[in-house]
Amino acid sequence: MIDTSLSYRDHLRRRADAIATICVHGGEEAHPEGALDTPIVLSSAFGFASAEQAARAFRGEEDAWIYGRWGNPTVAALEAKLARVEGAEAACATASGMAAIAGVILATCEAGDHVVAPRSMYAESARLLRERLPKLGITTTFVEGTPEAYAEAIGERTRILYVETPSNPTLGVVDIGAVVALARARGLRVIVDGTFATPFAQTPLALGADLVVHSMTKGIGGHGDVIGGAVLGSRELVDRARDVIVKGFGGVLSPLSAWLVERGLRTFALRQERACATAAELAAHLAADPRVAVVHHPSLSSHAGHALANAQMHAYGALLSFELAADGDGGDEAETIAKGRKVLEALRCATHAVSLGDVRTLVVHPASTTHSTMPPEARKLAGISGGLLRVSCGLESASDLIADFTRALST
Ligand SMILES: *Cc1c(COP(=O)(O)O)cnc(C)c1O
Repeated sequence: MIDTSLSYRDHLRRRADAIATICVHGGEEAHPEGALDTPIVLSSAFGFASAEQAARAFRGEEDAWIYGRWGNPTVAALEAKLARVEGAEAACATASGMAAIAGVILATCEAGDHVVAPRSMYAESARLLRERLPKLGITTTFVEGTPEAYAEAIGERTRILYVETPSNPTLGVVDIGAVVALARARGLRVIVDGTFATPFAQTPLALGADLVVHSMTKGIGGHGDVIGGAVLGSRELVDRARDVIVKGFGGVLSPLSAWLVERGLRTFALRQERACATAAELAAHLAADPRVAVVHHPSLSSHAGHALANAQMHAYGALLSFELAADGDGGDEAETIAKGRKVLEALRCATHAVSLGDVRTLVVHPASTTHSTMPPEARKLAGISGGLLRVSCGLESASDLIADFTRALST
């Protein structure tokens, strides 16, 4: 879905044009009484007009705001906008990305059920599946992100094929359509964590996925000032997820946070157009630098997922990672870790912090931070070497960023 007959910049402009109006105006229909801006409704409860109306509302015979954990107009306006941006029938905003992820799994599985998930994934999601859910009798098989590996791991009690693409932190691309085909044949659910791509770069529901989960903390909110998550898909599945995550477990997004995310979404197309262009430019520069051993970004024809990204993504995304070239014999892990940290500390324009999808360019050293709790063998299998740095491109000038990385590599 990436039109390679256009320059990438022209393609990005076209993708931004496809959703820019929705980003500005989507969800306005949910505003009360002609308010242009989304009102922030901070009421925990809503008054009833009469005893009869209260009874009808509780029977579900009329739409009514009753209590903030069951629904709020500011949160609903965000959900309406996000659903349109993603092309989903419905959206449910949640307190965080992890609330969305844990919730959709718990809404789908019961004790004895089984999940197939990729080895290379967001570390907290991996911990959820590896350490926490087995205590509730829900087990996971971790696989390479190929359809063959998914197919092989499917068992009698498998309920979910969980996909994270592009993956963290090496930007591996999983074939969503092929995983969907496996699931359809066996009646399984496909859940895609689309956080890295954002709905700008990828819309898994259009490829047949059942549910998409996002951390809205990242590119959707886009300003690094809020924690939030979302589940998107058919109304039936989203309502079921809402019942478990928001009503049952209390993972509700606050109206203030919802307003921040909704405001962030108004500039979503513009921000992503720029950040995605910068990422491809920075990736090309780093790939040509002899001090860099390998650059992971789907825009590069050297990337294993390049052709697949062209076929299933709208853009290559704003994240990349790169591995520093090792000195001499290839170096032991401690040495490459020290080198990775040195480059990181020399950066001035880019900011050393976790998270991603911010207006600021954020850089982390996965081996000593986000993925340090991962067993070393698992880290190695996931391709996370000591010299790997992950970069989330923000909105600074691409030339300032390229100069910053070029200088930091010389230190
Ligand atoms: C950040 C992130 C999450 C978790 O989201 P929170 O909002 O921090 O709970 C899940 N998946 C991916 C890919 C992420 O980047």
